[in-house]
Amino acid sequence: MHELAVAESLIKTVLEKSEDEEASRVVKVTIVVGNLAGVVTDSLHFCFDEVARDTIAEGATLEIETVSATAFCQSCRDEFEVGQYDFACPRCGGVIIPSGGMELYIKDIEIE
Ligand SMILES: [Zn+2]
Repeated sequence: MHELAVAESLIKTVLEKSEDEEASRVVKVTIVVGNLAGVVTDSLHFCFDEVARDTIAEGATLEIETVSATAFCQSCRDEFEVGQYDFACPRCGGVIIPSGGMELYIKDIEIE
């Protein structure tokens, strides 16, 4: 399950940073997820809570900011937003190259 692996690496990083800051509790974690990163956000929330249990991140709020995918058309040189399974240029039908939407990173960790 992909989300579990994401949650595990997420918590690992959060705990490492919190330890560096000598935090006693993690309040909130904000992450940025591109809509092509293949992460089911509901599932990630669930896994995050599970993995955070019995750590200082237990009960922390996970905030997920989603980013729309963008792509660049090789033929008409247009850049536009694409849907999850949309891989042809809506203008000319040409081949497009994804240029965004694969983001998956921690934006902010709130500790106390
Ligand atoms: Zn095009």
